[in-house]
Amino acid sequence: MNSDQLNQLIAQHPIVKDLIELKETAWFNPNFTTLAEGLPYVGLNQTDIDDARDRLARFAPYLMAVFPETAATGGIIESELAAIPNMQQQLEQHFDQAIGGKLWLKKDSHLPISGSIKARGGIYEVLCHAEKLALQAGLLSTSDNYAKLNSPEFKQFFSQYSIAVGSTGNLGLSIGIMSAQLGFDVTVHMSADARQWKKDKLRSHGVTVVEYVEDYGVAVEEGRKAALQNPNCFFIDDENSRTLFLGYSVAGQRLKTQLEQLNIVVDQAHPLFVYLPCGVGGGPGGVAFGLKMAFGDHVHCIFAEPTHSPCMLLGVATGLHDEISVQEIGIDNITAADGLAVGRASGFVGRAMQRLLDGFYTLEDETMYLLLGMLNQSEHLKLEPSALAGMLGPIIVNQRQDYAALHHFTEQQLQNANHIVWGTGGGMVPAEEMDKYLAKSKA
Ligand SMILES: *Cc1c(COP(=O)(O)O)cnc(C)c1O
Repeated sequence: MNSDQLNQLIAQHPIVKDLIELKETAWFNPNFTTLAEGLPYVGLNQTDIDDARDRLARFAPYLMAVFPETAATGGIIESELAAIPNMQQQLEQHFDQAIGGKLWLKKDSHLPISGSIKARGGIYEVLCHAEKLALQAGLLSTSDNYAKLNSPEFKQFFSQYSIAVGSTGNLGLSIGIMSAQLGFDVTVHMSADARQWKKDKLRSHGVTVVEYVEDYGVAVEEGRKAALQNPNCFFIDDENSRTLFLGYSVAGQRLKTQLEQLNIVVDQAHPLFVYLPCGVGGGPGGVAFGLKMAFGDHVHCIFAEPTHSPCMLLGVATGLHDEISVQEIGIDNITAADGLAVGRASGFVGRAMQRLLDGFYTLEDETMYLLLGMLNQSEHLKLEPSALAGMLGPIIVNQRQDYAALHHFTEQQLQNANHIVWGTGGGMVPAEEMDKYLAKSKA
C-alpha cells in the first residue's frame, strides 16, 4: 500500500491512524445489529451447533478413556467459570475506574488436554475428521460406544491418514496431541514466535514439527501447500474452517447452563459482557456465535487484540477483512501474546460476525503483563499473556460513554451487569516459563 492509498484509508477510517501509531484504542461497531438481523449473514444456525454438541457427546467415552483428566466432566472438555472479586477491586484501583456489576474469569486456560481455548475447536475438528473416515470405512456407527476407538485396530486404521495444520503454538498443541492419540500421522507447521516448550511437547507425543522463521500466515500457507501434495492428508484451515468455528460455538449453551446453576440472570436489565482475545478469529468468533445463539441480544461480545497485531479490528473497521494485513499499514505483528500474533484475519469470521460484535480494542504487551501479575497476585491464577487481553475490557466498557450511548445502556443496567473475561490459555505453561512471565509483569 503506497502512502496515497494509506492516507485515503485513514481519511475513510480514522481509527486506522490509531492502529498505525500503535495506540491502545477501541472501536465500537456502528454496524452492530440484532441477532435476528445479523444471523442470516453467519450462514450457520442452531442445528449446526447442536450437531457439534452431539458429536462431542459421542466422543466423550473415548476422551474419558484416553485422557483421564477429562473423567471429572464425563469426557466433556469444559472449563470452570470463576468469580474474581479481588481482581475486580485491583483493576478498579489501578485504573481509577469503577466496574459496575460482577467480574468473572472463564478458565479455558485450564481446559484439559491442551490448556487453551484451542481444546475446543482444534480437538473438535480432529474428532470430526476421524468420525467421518471411520463411518465411511464402515468401522463405526454413530450409535456405537466410541470408547472402541481406543484400540490397536483403530490406531492402525487412522495411521494411513495424515493431518496438517499451521499454528503459532496452541492450535498445534491441540491438534497434534489429539491426532497423535487417535493414531494419525500429524504435522504441525509452526511460526517463528511459537515457544520452544510447545514444540518439544509435540515432538514428545510423536508429532512432526516443521519450524519457520516467518510468521503465522507463512506457516499456514506452507502447511497448506505440503498437505496438497498428499491426497490422504487433511489440512486444518484455521483461516477459513467452519468446523473449527462450530467446535468453539458449543461453549455458548454450556456457559448458559453454568450461569443458571449460579443463579445468574442474563436479560435486558442484566446485560452480559464477554471479552475475547482474538488472533485469526475462529476461537473468539465461534464462541461469540454460540453466545449470541444462547443469550440473544443480551450478550455483548468485545474482541481484544495486541497493538502490534490488530488484524480483526483492521479488517472489520475498513470492511477489507482478509484483503488487508497489519504489515500493509506498517505494523510489525510482533507480540508476546502467542495466539494473537496474526497479521491477517480470517476471511470468514469477520464477514460472518461483523454485525453481531459490539466492538474491538487493542492493548500493549506491557498492559497484558501488568494484568498477568495483577491476576496472579490477587487471585493466585496463572495465565499466559494473551489470555489477559480481555481483562482490560470491563474498564473500557465502564469508561467509554460513547459506547454506552451507542447501545443506550442505563446506569442501572451497567450496575447489574456481569463481565466475563475469556481466559484463553496458560494452564500448561511450564513453571520456569511462567516465572519469566511473572518477572516481566513486575518490571
Ligand atoms: C488461539 C488463541 C486465541 C485466539 O484464537 P483465534 O482463533 O486465533 O482468534 C486467544 N488466546 C490464546 C491463548 C490462543 O491460543
